[in-house]
Amino acid sequence: MDLFEYQAKELFVKHGVPSSEGRVTDSAEEARAIATEIGKPVMIKSQVKVGGRGKAGGVKYAATPDDAYEHAKNILGLDIKGHITKKVLVAEAKDIAAEYYISFLLDRSNRTYMAMCSVEGGMEIEEVAVQKPEMLAKVPVDAVKGVDLAFARSIAEQGHLPADILDTAAVTIQKLWETFVGEDATLVEVNPLVRTPDNEILALDGKVTLDANAEFRHPQHLEFADIDATDPLELKAKEHDLNYVKLDGEVGIIGNGAGLVMSTLDVVAYAGENHGGVKPANFLDIGGGASATVMANGLDVILGDSQVKSVFVNVFGGITSCDAVANGIVKALEILGDNATKPLVVRLDGNNVELGRKILADANHPLVTIAQTMDEGADKAAELAAAK
Ligand code: GDP
Ligand code: MN
Repeated sequence: MDLFEYQAKELFVKHGVPSSEGRVTDSAEEARAIATEIGKPVMIKSQVKVGGRGKAGGVKYAATPDDAYEHAKNILGLDIKGHITKKVLVAEAKDIAAEYYISFLLDRSNRTYMAMCSVEGGMEIEEVAVQKPEMLAKVPVDAVKGVDLAFARSIAEQGHLPADILDTAAVTIQKLWETFVGEDATLVEVNPLVRTPDNEILALDGKVTLDANAEFRHPQHLEFADIDATDPLELKAKEHDLNYVKLDGEVGIIGNGAGLVMSTLDVVAYAGENHGGVKPANFLDIGGGASATVMANGLDVILGDSQVKSVFVNVFGGITSCDAVANGIVKALEILGDNATKPLVVRLDGNNVELGRKILADANHPLVTIAQTMDEGADKAAELAAAK
């Protein structure tokens, strides 16, 4: 999960990373009030999850509370690369003597962590990497040893930060590492890391990505979730613990096992080419235990997608045999009753397939079509979606 800057800075405060005092708001009036409270010039900063806000006019200096109001009014609603500004951060404006760059990230290709540091901060780091690669230090970080003060100082030195500021920079950098580890982040990036005229080292921007696989260790991270931006169907699926991703198509997909579901998406997209270009509407893996409840919840989510015109259930019976899955489908349709409104193509194979198909045939539900193979099922589901 990517965080907003103001959320990243909450984590910085928690781990003692020096930054600037500030508060977030969705109103220009409140921006004025916060500026009054801070009692010094402030920065008004668009809170969107995309870089380059400064260049796009989303970061402005406000000398007075009235300026803060004006800038907030202009920045709220501002579209930055397709991201609409809903909130602004009002933060004390710091005097800047120099802008540096620092980040910690997961270096997947080398199976390690990495620090990147450069004296050339403020601008886009990709440009530094291309134009002055010798100014961007890339330092592998041993996950077990981590980053102590001496190592943090060495990272700053390799990034060519001036000698007289290395000790101070090391303190901030070490605390950023503590943030990275303590919060189970896969990225902590600060650009600019600022040197003030009185030689403080502050994190004036913050980009943090949290590792969703570590969510269970951080119940407090839940409040960072951007509910507004999450697809309502995905939210509903999450409440039911379903592995669901909404896509842009007409054929709802239910399968068991991520691999089978992904192949089903491909086969349906391929079959759709012969039926007016219909596409799969979602990824949904109901996993091993395809119980009636799980099947009903899955169908409920998919049928709630107004774009969906037909549903393809593609299940390979293993530990959960096909008769159990077939019973699950029949019961799910009972549970849904009149809410089941779209045609269902079911392909079962594997353990106890004959009995499974018999159960579906005996139930003789008007919405259900049985397919013998995956290709046949995909074709039928695409045809039904195109016909609607
Ligand atoms: P980004 O453009 O999305 O990366 O947003 P930043 O938070 O990095 O802000 C962009 C630029 O605004 C920075 O590189 C700074 O030059 C400037 N800026 C941000 N905060 C302050 C501040 O407190 N004081 C001053 N003087 N400039 C700031
Ligand atoms: Mn920045």
